Amino acid sequence: MSAYDPYDADRPLRLGCACGQHTSDAEHAAATLRERSEAPDVVASTSAFIEATLVKALFPQDALRRRFLRAVGRKTAAAAIGSVLPLHALQAMAQDKAPLEKKDLKIGFIPITCATPLIMAHPLGFYSKQGLNVEVVKTAGWALIRDKMLNKEYDATHFLSPMPLAISLGLGSQATPMNVATIQNTNGQAITLAMKHKDKRDPKDWKGFKFAVPFEYSMHNFLLRYYVAEHGLDPDRDIQIRVVPPPEMVANLRAGNIDGFLGPDPFNQRAVFEEAGFIHLLTKELWNGHPCCAFGTSTEFIQKHPNTFAALFRAVLTAAAMAREAKNRELIAKVIAPQAYLNQPETVIAQVLTGRFADGLGQVKNVPDRADFDPIPWQSMAVWMLTQLKRWGYLKGDVNYKQIAEKVFLLTDAKKHMKALGQAAPEGAYPKFSVMNKPFDPDKAEAYAQSFAIKRDARPA
Ligand SMILES: [Zn+2]
Ligand SMILES: [Zn+2]
Repeated sequence: MSAYDPYDADRPLRLGCACGQHTSDAEHAAATLRERSEAPDVVASTSAFIEATLVKALFPQDALRRRFLRAVGRKTAAAAIGSVLPLHALQAMAQDKAPLEKKDLKIGFIPITCATPLIMAHPLGFYSKQGLNVEVVKTAGWALIRDKMLNKEYDATHFLSPMPLAISLGLGSQATPMNVATIQNTNGQAITLAMKHKDKRDPKDWKGFKFAVPFEYSMHNFLLRYYVAEHGLDPDRDIQIRVVPPPEMVANLRAGNIDGFLGPDPFNQRAVFEEAGFIHLLTKELWNGHPCCAFGTSTEFIQKHPNTFAALFRAVLTAAAMAREAKNRELIAKVIAPQAYLNQPETVIAQVLTGRFADGLGQVKNVPDRADFDPIPWQSMAVWMLTQLKRWGYLKGDVNYKQIAEKVFLLTDAKKHMKALGQAAPEGAYPKFSVMNKPFDPDKAEAYAQSFAIKRDARPA
């Protein structure tokens, strides 16, 4: 990718960044974020604590420690102690940096803001810091992601979080065990409608509408179905739902091929930017904190490359923790906007990530948690996804909900790695939640799947 593209209408042509030390705004932003990730308050809080413990062991009496420091000075003391305490080696051991089975890796991604953590880990150097040489490969659609995972072209990937469940169960492909290591993003999706429907805000008026979703095994499909069904529409009979790769959604909306979509960002915001559509609702209004995409790989890859997998886990969790902080969002928008990643106007991505956005109907909204990046792969989320597969006839017969959830969603590993990185990892595995104010109890999954007025026993032919 060239840093200077004089023929890009979406970006200002500027030779270099504001400070003059980088070739582009994106590189300047990446350098600033890299500094933040290495800031003493982030990384050093653990090592400072270890160091303090060791110094206390050297000088059990504090008076002695202070006399020593006054005699030689702070700097000399730190250097002298550092030379006898192999702090970095100890930290490496603590993070169990065992030899990596594979270092050159290909990770697939769809160019959407859902993938922010695994994308930004690349320019911020989080993979290389773990000793990995990662190529993040932009991919045209979800079916291709699945196929490239099945034929092992990719080592790990950005998934829609229901995909590893579907592939493990053999829905839509041969059954191959896949895993969710972390959730990539929570919230961050929307229902966008064509401008001509700006007075049709009640789903009861949507009979005959054509909608796009990114893939059948997606939260987008499940949430759109759930939403229209709660308003009395049968998603298989009263509307049409078709699969469209996210980067093609806005063009299809503009051409009138679809009336709307429940899709990932930045394409909801891109539709507003192009005045092709407006944001009808954010999916967080249906289920605040819902999972969307995931980071994962095949069970076989994990078994063959446990240390490489652990290193990937650390890189992605480090990125997720940075992405969760509001103060980093504007810089992250600059880092992931360029052609190699999202290839979108920075202003579109910034509106998604900061939550200050134009809705396409003349309003500017302020929703800081429009998109978030909580990485915890709660097993209750997996059980909910399975109930929707059952509800709509994708999955038939008896379903052992919890057994499948626990096999596919690697909650224990995620918590272990989060703790090792000094991140907070809450207790439990099956937190309850509500979708459109209807409570979901993961202990009563089958009853929940059967509780809906509109449901299917099998997929329509
Ligand atoms: Zn700069
Ligand atoms: Zn997503």
